[in-house]
Amino acid sequence: LDLGGTFLKYALGTREGEILLKDKKPSEADQPRAAVFRVMFEAIDEMVKAGAEFQGVVRAIGCGSPGSVDFDRGKLLGNTPNITDWGNADIRGEIEGRFGLPTWVDNDANVMTLAEAECGAAKGFRHVIAITLGTGIGGGIMVNGSIYRGGHYAGAELGHVSVQFDGLACNCGGRGCIEQYASAPAMVRNYMEKLRQKSRDVSQTVTTKTIFTQAAKGEQEAIKTIDETCEYLGAALASIVNIFNPEIIVIGGGVADAGDEFIAQIWSALKSRAMPPSLKGLRLVHAELGNDAGVVGAIRLAACMYDRIEKGPCE
Ligand SMILES: [Zn+2]
Repeated sequence: LDLGGTFLKYALGTREGEILLKDKKPSEADQPRAAVFRVMFEAIDEMVKAGAEFQGVVRAIGCGSPGSVDFDRGKLLGNTPNITDWGNADIRGEIEGRFGLPTWVDNDANVMTLAEAECGAAKGFRHVIAITLGTGIGGGIMVNGSIYRGGHYAGAELGHVSVQFDGLACNCGGRGCIEQYASAPAMVRNYMEKLRQKSRDVSQTVTTKTIFTQAAKGEQEAIKTIDETCEYLGAALASIVNIFNPEIIVIGGGVADAGDEFIAQIWSALKSRAMPPSLKGLRLVHAELGNDAGVVGAIRLAACMYDRIEKGPCE
């Protein structure tokens, strides 16, 4: 299960993370939590039934959710802005109580990182940073083959690396967070400001796609916006690289769909700032799994943890 503010995406898969069947339903995120759980239960019912059609049995359930998730208990810690009535939701308790299947729940960015590390762009690597550029900036950290969650499951908030100590206030309580400078809304804001300064028409609806299209046509404001975004991202990633010395960084999310040129530009900003030893062999690549990352990661999470119950801890 990949729970989001708009859709619940769900899939039936093999242990290896191969998807056999997938679908999605509106997640009813603005409704009381019973409605959200109802959507999840319906999805699980469908997948359990479908398992029989594939001559298989559903053994375990994995779930990614927005917000901080207590991985050991399978429940939310506090609220998440994307789902109205989801504060402290006991996802594992509800699902296990109803289906009797072992269930593991993690933060959605961690799940996406696991997916890319095990089945996607970072397959075969054990030190992985994944970052998603969209409405917000999210991320995950894999250290020596394990997802790093921190002491209280609140780590890996890569969108809240500060690139300017007295910069823009962020909804996390900090200042100058990279999310305030390089997320999709931040890019649009930056671009609109540049247009206004030139007294240019700002009445049209602007998305990041508009900016990349305009840049391709040679418009200076768009080019400058992209240059600055890449410098900000390069600065944030250089700090992350200096700390974690990853083998590979995977960039996903809507903004990253912009293309290879964008990635190359981020790379050049990163390279000019990070310490040489931590750059050795480092790769910066596009995410591969796209919209499937959430369900693939959830399947792999369930499979890994299930194997651990059967065979004992492997790490
Ligand atoms: Zn922040």
